[in-house]
Amino acid sequence: MTDPRRRVPRTDALLADPRLAEAQQLLGRALVKYVITQAQQRARAGEIEPEQVAEHAVASLPAGAASLRPVINATGVVVHTNLGRAPLSQAAVDAVVTASGATDVEFDLATGHRARRGRGALAALAAAVPGAGGVHVVNNNAAALLLTALTLAPSKEIVLSRGELVEIGDGFRIPELLASTGARLREVGTTNRAHLRDYADAIGPDTGFVLKVHPSNFCVTGFTSAVSVAELAQLDTPLVVDIGSGLLEPHPMLPDEPDATTALRDGANLVTASGDKLLGGPQAGLLFGDAGLIERLRRHPAARALRVDKLTLAALEATVVGPPPPVAQALAADVTRLRVRAERLAAQLPGGHAVDCVAAVGGGGAPGVQLPSAGLSLPESYAAKLRAGSPPVVGRVESGRCLLDLRTVAPEDDDLVLAAVLACSS
Ligand SMILES: *Cc1c(COP(=O)(O)O)cnc(C)c1O
Repeated sequence: MTDPRRRVPRTDALLADPRLAEAQQLLGRALVKYVITQAQQRARAGEIEPEQVAEHAVASLPAGAASLRPVINATGVVVHTNLGRAPLSQAAVDAVVTASGATDVEFDLATGHRARRGRGALAALAAAVPGAGGVHVVNNNAAALLLTALTLAPSKEIVLSRGELVEIGDGFRIPELLASTGARLREVGTTNRAHLRDYADAIGPDTGFVLKVHPSNFCVTGFTSAVSVAELAQLDTPLVVDIGSGLLEPHPMLPDEPDATTALRDGANLVTASGDKLLGGPQAGLLFGDAGLIERLRRHPAARALRVDKLTLAALEATVVGPPPPVAQALAADVTRLRVRAERLAAQLPGGHAVDCVAAVGGGGAPGVQLPSAGLSLPESYAAKLRAGSPPVVGRVESGRCLLDLRTVAPEDDDLVLAAVLACSS
């Protein structure tokens, strides 16, 4: 009897299989070859028949050349950091695709000369925040703070409250980020309370600027007081306000969440924010403020290292001028509609229950806000199976159940969720 391992097809023969040859156009030769090698190894190990190698390789081809996979966020956390924060609107996705080739990001088609990079996105932001004398965009809010400290506080002090020494996530801390520029931090007040006189006492010839940071991922309650932007603006020092979430205007459902327009109106000289939290756009750092300050930031040598890609500029502009992005829709979703959707799905699922639940804004801010929501309650064991599906559905495990919260699921994805749950129960 011949050794079945000798019947395993050779790599070049497999690469010539029309299906695998076509896949190379899309995925590249190396990736297809890797998939083939895996299938050959399974045949050599006796897990599959040698005659099935081509079939298995075709079935194991990834959908694309990049390994990131689309995921359905059914966690009920609107801005989920581990799931890439804000999902882009279709308008923003289209803008990214359009800009992905050669594009006039820094070129004036009328004159044939160089033009201001990203002028469309900057104009859109300026129009959305009319109180800003200037606008600048960098890689993320951390980069916005870095550039601000480099420009306004070289070898100087940044005055900020002890109650606002925020760790943003994954071990990164705003005070350490600022100190990495060589600026010195001058902490004022206590963890729970700071007063205007604390700031006033700390300000002197060495002060670069006063920084107010929004505690976007925690709440301090009880005997607390913080100094408002309007009060801090009375101090005769540049005032920088990190609002975190990226709201351009007040949000009716999030009264405690700061916004750029109000911060500027209250007297901030510079406002920094993220693009991919409550604004619902791509990862970006937004800077709004006095025209002169913005120009200084823009001209700092480090600005070149922190600048954004054309894809970001495209998505940002489309987010600001286009229809409400998924984050805005998830926040605005009416709980009665969510219940109707949950009940429709539950009716088609043996053993599925529609339940009321509570969603959260998440990494985007508003830590104390509870959003009434509805979803499906499933056995806990479904959580792992749903994550292994295609597309993966990520729910949350709560009180021994797997909960799929529909507030963060786009209504057009309901049937995908249904199919995913049905696939688990079969
Ligand atoms: C999220 C956040 C940051 C960091 O923003 P990135 O865009 O993630 O760099 C900074 N400050 C505050 C207050 C935040 O909420």
